[in-house]
Amino acid sequence: MSIPAAAASAQAPWQRLLAQAICDPAQLLRALSLPDHLLPAARRAAALFPLRVPAPYLARIAAGDAADPLLRQVLPLDVECEPQPGFSADPLAEAATQPVPGLLKKYHGRALLIATGACAIHCRYCFRRHFPYADAHAGGSRLEPALAAIAADASIGEVILSGGDPLTLGDLRLAALAQRLAAIPHIHTLRIHSRLPVVLPQRVDAALLRWLAPLSLRKVLVLHTNHPAEIDADVAAALAGLTHSGVTLLNQAVLLRGVNDNADTLIALSERLHGIGVLPYYLHLLDRVQGAAHFDVPQASGEALINAMRARLPGYLVPRLVREIPGASGKTLIA
Ligand SMILES: *Cc1c(COP(=O)(O)O)cnc(C)c1O
Ligand code: SF4
Repeated sequence: MSIPAAAASAQAPWQRLLAQAICDPAQLLRALSLPDHLLPAARRAAALFPLRVPAPYLARIAAGDAADPLLRQVLPLDVECEPQPGFSADPLAEAATQPVPGLLKKYHGRALLIATGACAIHCRYCFRRHFPYADAHAGGSRLEPALAAIAADASIGEVILSGGDPLTLGDLRLAALAQRLAAIPHIHTLRIHSRLPVVLPQRVDAALLRWLAPLSLRKVLVLHTNHPAEIDADVAAALAGLTHSGVTLLNQAVLLRGVNDNADTLIALSERLHGIGVLPYYLHLLDRVQGAAHFDVPQASGEALINAMRARLPGYLVPRLVREIPGASGKTLIA
C-alpha cells in the first residue's frame, strides 16, 4: 500500500469500503464462486464501463448464481459491447441542457447539480455510462459558477444533488455546499439522489447526520433500490438515522429485465421499502443507452406490472411509471 498511515487512519470506515470496492472482474467471479468462462466477456465489457461493487453490496449477492438479480446489475456482459438500433450514448440529450457545466435545469422550480462523477457502484444499465463526467460535474472551480447561476434564478426553489453519487463526497464538502445553498433566500429544499445508503449503508454515519439534521432546509433523499434483496438490516439502520434527522425518504427504481420485471418482486420491494420508512416514488422505464438493451422491458409489460401492483397494494405503495423524454417539462407519466 502506498497510502501513508496517517492518511489511511483519517478515513472514515465508509471511505475505506469505497476505496476497496471490487473493480477486477476476476476477483468478483472468485468471490462469488462463478465459472471462469464468464471472465473474457466481463473484461471486454468492463473496458467500456468499469466494474465497481463495494463489499457490503457484494455480501447480499448469492454465490454461484449467475442469474442473481443483484449480480445482474453489476456483472459486465458481452451483450453490452454490441451496438443496438435505438440505443444511443446520450439518450436524454443532456449534453445540451446545461446552462453552466454541471448544472441541469430541465424542469420548472428545480435544478440538478452534478456534484461529482463518482459512484460507489457501477450499474450496468446506467444512462450515464457514457456521460463525459470528467468535464461535466460541478466540482472544483465549476462550483462557484453553478452556485451563482442558482442564486441568480429565483424560480429555483429546490436543488437536487445528483451525479454520479453526491454521497461519495466527504462530509466537509457536502456540509459547506449545503450551507451555501441554505444561504440563498429562494432555496427551500435540498434533495439528494443517492444509491449509497443502499449499496454502502455505512455511509450514513454520525458525521453525515451531524450536518444534515440541523440544516435549515426541507430535506429529501431519493434512494435508488431495484430489488428487495438489496435491503438488509444495515440498510434499515442507515435509513432510520435519516428518518430521525427529518429527511423525507423516497425511492426510485428502474424496471430491469431479469432483475425486477415481475409483480411479486416489485410488490415485495414496495413493502420492504415501506417497512424501513421509504415510499416508492418512480419506476423508470429504461433509458435507451448503448450497452443496456438486454435490460429493456416493453412499456406494455411495465403498464401490466403497475396494474398488478395496484390490485394488491395501497395506492401510496404503487410507484409512478415514468419515462424520460428529451425536451419534456417533467418525467413523462405512463398510464
Ligand atoms: C429527474 C430530474 C429532476 C427531478 O424531477 P422530479 O420529477 O422532481 O423528481 C430534475 N432535474 C433533472 C435534470 C432531472 O433529470
Ligand atoms: S449514477 Fe446511479 S445508476 Fe448510474 S452507476 Fe451511479 S449509482 Fe448506478
